[in-house]
Amino acid sequence: MSDAFSPRLVNDPFGDPVLYVGLRYQRRALLFDLGSIDSLGLRDLHKITDVFVSHTHIDHFIGFDHLLRSSLNREDEIRLHGPKGITDNVSGKLAGYTWNLIQNYPLKIVVHEIDRERQKISSFRAAALFRPEEERLVPFGGFLLDEPSFAVRAVILDHRIPCLAFSLEEKSRLNIRHERMEEMGLKRGPWLDELKRRLREKAPQGTLLEMPIQDGGERLTLSLKEWRETLVVEGEGQKIVYVVDNLFTPANVERIISLARDANLFYCEAAFSQADEARARERYHLTAAQAGELARQARVERFIPFHFSQRYEKEPDRLREEAMAAFIGGAS
Ligand SMILES: [Zn+2]
Ligand SMILES: [Zn+2]
Repeated sequence: MSDAFSPRLVNDPFGDPVLYVGLRYQRRALLFDLGSIDSLGLRDLHKITDVFVSHTHIDHFIGFDHLLRSSLNREDEIRLHGPKGITDNVSGKLAGYTWNLIQNYPLKIVVHEIDRERQKISSFRAAALFRPEEERLVPFGGFLLDEPSFAVRAVILDHRIPCLAFSLEEKSRLNIRHERMEEMGLKRGPWLDELKRRLREKAPQGTLLEMPIQDGGERLTLSLKEWRETLVVEGEGQKIVYVVDNLFTPANVERIISLARDANLFYCEAAFSQADEARARERYHLTAAQAGELARQARVERFIPFHFSQRYEKEPDRLREEAMAAFIGGAS
């Protein structure tokens, strides 16, 4: 059974924070943070539909220009979700160039700005020379995306400015009973993805779907409901949590732990060594040990510390070791 999400950090742990998550069944990708993305190829860039920006410090947002440039010809819109102030940041970025020859370009950027219980949505179209349009306010109840197969939630952390932390959650996992398929003489193939897609989209139960039978041109046609009962077992979905810049305060700790509870994968900044805790506090960052403590308390399955301060580049393993010691060591 392959995972629905295939996540990878775009840069090394001392580089800019960017998490690229391919959605296996949708030929689509999500991006968490928008630091330098120069190493992403066009094929990967064109799959990105939603970008979740924790905050707009330069190491988390400098990739905007690269994404913009590679997307001018895109027909589908790109959504950017970020904290208070992001609309002005996008507006300012777009105002930094001259746009007199782009009226025929299809690109539309939609910005979702999260401010406590509200979301401000604005759009910027190439056809309108990227001037802000269609501003509207909608309530924000914790969800940035809520789709048939997955959802993205956010909480607001204190990094002296608001900084968003994100959780990407598969709604349920649809496992195929391959032994049953063999018994029935059914062939594996793309129709299984089609079956899963229809189930996730909650297509009508009576929808007919045909699958080829091994060796021979025969096909078996059953309703969606019959296929589900015959071949599909529902399991727990995947959960990936992404946490960057914040101070180890009781309020932040509580929010992170409830967001990251039982995650399969927990990406967390581990900027400073515990020996430099005063420095971490001054900069509103976590230490590696604090990140490990969060991972341990949230009982995550896998913990990936990253976003290391470059001051430790000469000791490349130090922060990971401190983080892992706190994660595993505290478990006894
Ligand atoms: Zn920051
Ligand atoms: Zn940062």
